[in-house]
Amino acid sequence: MKYEKTGVIDISQLKMPNEKQLKKGVAITECLQPIPCNPCKEVCPTDAIKMENINDPPDIDYDKCIGCALCVEVCPGLAMFVVRVRDDKAMISLPYEMLPMPERGQIVKALDREGKIVGNAVVKAIKHGRTNVITIEVDKNLAMVVRNIKVEK
Ligand code: SF4
Ligand code: SF4
Repeated sequence: MKYEKTGVIDISQLKMPNEKQLKKGVAITECLQPIPCNPCKEVCPTDAIKMENINDPPDIDYDKCIGCALCVEVCPGLAMFVVRVRDDKAMISLPYEMLPMPERGQIVKALDREGKIVGNAVVKAIKHGRTNVITIEVDKNLAMVVRNIKVEK
């Protein structure tokens, strides 16, 4: 598999939500390795994250998930994202630990999992926390492609 060789997740390895769930907005986990970690499960207010034991990768029940992004903020592996798709746009909440911080309304570069620029994104919200969570808006077709941003001052 590509991930094991390169460290870059292939979208075919992800559990995909259906159209209705994506419209509501749900967490997408990109945590595939068995590691002893579960703050995402502990913080989830709707018990949407299943893990038989602490080494299991999280399994998200998309019907229970309310897209609150608390799991994005607490994940030490920066492996949680929230994606919501409506009409021709996607909102992506992603963890961001770099500097400079963007400003609300700023246009930033949208990066894929390999760090390549794939388009522009508009910063819609910023939540400061243990890990900052930035919510961006991109074109709908980039919903499962963009997983980071580059801020140019
Ligand atoms: S987004 Fe919120 S409800 Fe959904 S899995 Fe994460 S913590 Fe749970
Ligand atoms: S908190 Fe992050 S790294 Fe830990 S199990 Fe959850 S998704 Fe994986």
